[in-house]
Amino acid sequence: MTSGLTKECVVGIVGGGQLGRMLALAAAPLGVNCRALEPADCPPASIAAKCLQAPFDDARRAMEWASDLDVVTYEFENIPADTLDAITGAVPVRPSPESLRVSCDRVLEKQLFGSLGIPTTRWMAVSSREDLARAMHTIGLPFVLKTRRFGYDGKGQAVVRTENGIEKAWAELGDAASKVGLLAEELVPFTSEVSQVSVRGLGGEIRHYPLTRNVHREGILRFSAPLGGSTASPSLVELAQKAAAQILGRLNHVGVLAVEFFEHSGRLIANEIAPRVHNSGHWTQNGAESCQFENHLRAVLGWPLGGTGTLGFSCMVNLIGSVPPVADILAVEGAHLHLYGKEPRTGRKLGHVNLRTRCPEKFREGIRNLAALVPGEDVNHWLAQVESD
Ligand code: AMP
Repeated sequence: MTSGLTKECVVGIVGGGQLGRMLALAAAPLGVNCRALEPADCPPASIAAKCLQAPFDDARRAMEWASDLDVVTYEFENIPADTLDAITGAVPVRPSPESLRVSCDRVLEKQLFGSLGIPTTRWMAVSSREDLARAMHTIGLPFVLKTRRFGYDGKGQAVVRTENGIEKAWAELGDAASKVGLLAEELVPFTSEVSQVSVRGLGGEIRHYPLTRNVHREGILRFSAPLGGSTASPSLVELAQKAAAQILGRLNHVGVLAVEFFEHSGRLIANEIAPRVHNSGHWTQNGAESCQFENHLRAVLGWPLGGTGTLGFSCMVNLIGSVPPVADILAVEGAHLHLYGKEPRTGRKLGHVNLRTRCPEKFREGIRNLAALVPGEDVNHWLAQVESD
């Protein structure tokens, strides 16, 4: 007879930010403990995970940290793949370092889209001022100059709208050309931005969350809402799921992955991928059968995947720079607050609110009430995302 006791299951998370925190919080009810590796002191994940404070490029300490873990995962892209390679020798790393390598480099991402026949923006790698002038002629105006690596929340990007704008863009980002490389891509006059958050299990099973509409301002995600049956065009859903499945398969990815697209003239144009849980999937914490954090853990642990269906009408509002009074947020019917324990700073994601209701009228009312709490947002634009096309 067995004792019924099983060995403690421990997942290592490289990165201790809010995504690590929410992974660790989702792990607790599964009986899974998490340990994070993070250079910062007292990071958000420390509320639910033991953290080792060490630089990401210290492969020796990372290997020591990983030695008694069951599996290692990661919560953002800007970590050296070499560190993950070193860990892979001792402990499974899921998703694999290959998923990280591709998704942290915009040129490799574009090449991946191209090789799979997934439409993407017209683009050109830029490594000199002369390349930039060539890009303007090949791609045409307007276009966006982006760093190949280390860009997030709109950082490391400059829009070039006129010939004269080239000088300004080069002054801003030229230094990065020799350090991390640049690329220029057409500025897409999109009608909306959508993302496909999907999960692939260890055995290759894939499950898709509903296609999600996203609103960005100043390059930062502000609002996300999954498209319900009546608001989602079946052809777009099919295109998004097919692209996500191709990418997951090609990378042999295990875990959650998000693909961000621009919707333009009935087509989906892939912008970028994130090989991890994603901000546009946060609504799943309160609006889906199993949230993206739980499904990521299930996948990397080789466990059966959970349901990705919705539980009602839901959306997510990011809290950026400051947090409205907690009682005001909680007074909104159907609101669920998720704070990250971070010090307020302009442009910093400090938390989010998920709204979930049973009826569409209450849903729209809740969106209006939440928008009134976060200054500077266009509530009509948010509401337009959840209306039928
Ligand atoms: P990214 O870091 O590539 O996700 O860019 C952040 C945001 O900037 C996107 O979600 C878009 O709102 C905007 N953006 C980036 N690239 C383009 C593009 N090529 N065309 C239009 N908008 C873009």
